[in-house]
Amino acid sequence: MFKSSSFSFKSISDCLLDFLFPASCAVCGKPVSKNGELCPDCWKLFDWISSPKCYKCGYPFPADLDLDDKPLCPVCAAGKSELDFIRSACVYNDISRDVILPFKHSGHISYAKFMSKSMINALQDLNLKPDVVLPVPLSHRRLFHRGYNQAVLLARDIARFYGVALDFDSVKRIHRPDMGHKNAKQRAENIAGVFKILKPHNIKDRNILIVDDVMTTGATFAELYKVLKKGGANKVYGVTFARVVRAI
Ligand SMILES: [Zn+2]
Ligand SMILES: [Zn+2]
Repeated sequence: MFKSSSFSFKSISDCLLDFLFPASCAVCGKPVSKNGELCPDCWKLFDWISSPKCYKCGYPFPADLDLDDKPLCPVCAAGKSELDFIRSACVYNDISRDVILPFKHSGHISYAKFMSKSMINALQDLNLKPDVVLPVPLSHRRLFHRGYNQAVLLARDIARFYGVALDFDSVKRIHRPDMGHKNAKQRAENIAGVFKILKPHNIKDRNILIVDDVMTTGATFAELYKVLKKGGANKVYGVTFARVVRAI
């Protein structure tokens, strides 16, 4: 676990780097005010999730629906969703995929800045008070091949925003072959039993915010939720950069 600090300042070397390498848009390379940000043209391309959306799981509703303050989707209304709250910054589509795949697999880690910033924005309506931010763990084998856990890169700024610990070692993930394009039932079966709590004292009675890059069927969040709750976690929240939106 790593304790984040909300305190930061720009060193002389950072200022020199800014001068030598001016900030550019993470996607198209046009000049922007801060490194890791998007230019307005690229920002507009994404399908950002705003209101109206399900208050509990963040599922986006059509913009023209006239709903009350805290509407629920049919799944949440039926009490079938597990996490206390979920939010995602944008819809998973061709544009977000073109950012996520290079971020995840080709070392484009500078994208983490604008991605985590948009995730913090997506959480704003909830006024959460997490005790800890927990990036979805990668198995040792996958971490070895990829060299980094993309969820940790996203979680760093989120933990700093809340001024809480970034917990990347209290839960481990056992390796299973890639889930590919399996359906929801197969994904849930494939992920069952992969998470193990290594440090129970970091989980018990904590309000935990889980961070991942994409939510596809929700199977990963559901499994981790189950394990954390069994370990005595208090509230469990989730946030992703993008989510797959299917008709429900
Ligand atoms: Zn751009
Ligand atoms: Zn919902």
